[in-house]
Amino acid sequence: MEKGVRICFGILVVLISPILSGCLGTDGLLNSGSNRGIPGGLTLACLDDSTYTSMVIEIDYELGYQPETTSTDMLKERLESVCAKPKGIEILFTETDFGDREVWQASDIRTSGWEEKSHDPRDDSTLYWQVIFPSGTYHDTSVLGVAVDASTISIFKDSIDDAENVFRRPSAEKIENSVLIHEFGHLLGLVNTVYTSPADHEDSSKPGHSSNEDSVMYWAIESSSIANFFDNELPTEFDVDDKNDLIGLADGSIPCTDQLWTP
Ligand SMILES: [Zn+2]
Repeated sequence: MEKGVRICFGILVVLISPILSGCLGTDGLLNSGSNRGIPGGLTLACLDDSTYTSMVIEIDYELGYQPETTSTDMLKERLESVCAKPKGIEILFTETDFGDREVWQASDIRTSGWEEKSHDPRDDSTLYWQVIFPSGTYHDTSVLGVAVDASTISIFKDSIDDAENVFRRPSAEKIENSVLIHEFGHLLGLVNTVYTSPADHEDSSKPGHSSNEDSVMYWAIESSSIANFFDNELPTEFDVDDKNDLIGLADGSIPCTDQLWTP
């Protein structure tokens, strides 16, 4: 009996591990000895305004891979609604040559991202978060976007285009809107990556993700199978549980771990 349970658990771990390597690209990060932090490591720096009063979202894109205006407008709006940045949130676009890499590992994204960062993530009173839009795909081609450390994200437009079905419902543009906000949700620590929510809303088989399909943090948002789960309308908002987690982290009622900065 006990042996049966153990074998079953073993199979379960094997089944789950490819999912863990999904849109949270932390492999190699924890042992790297760097101070780049895990996704969620700058959550309090974003939610608090005692030191960092403004924020810049740096977007470095390969020629032909510039994000949709709808994506970046929506991202700015969502961040303004949850982060405390009285001096504003700006978006800085830079066309960037990332070379001819076709397949990206998390460590490649980290290396290229940090080479291109215009500032340290915490510079004076400004917090800098970065997203790169390179050509090519993640090594796991089912991944549309990935957060690789506390301030760095990559979005794979080639994979997003491939995820669009022939009916264009949802369109690649709508998929990009949701994936971009989803990855920034990971930089905000959603769901349960740097805290434990008082609400039961983390998907038990997809760590770091919401079990609510109306939340932008729903696990399938990151996945190339997204069109199998949604017909045209995709979530682009954090749900009530996500927002309550951020409120609790901001006011200190939910303890927050793994922070590069604390108020
Ligand atoms: Zn995700």
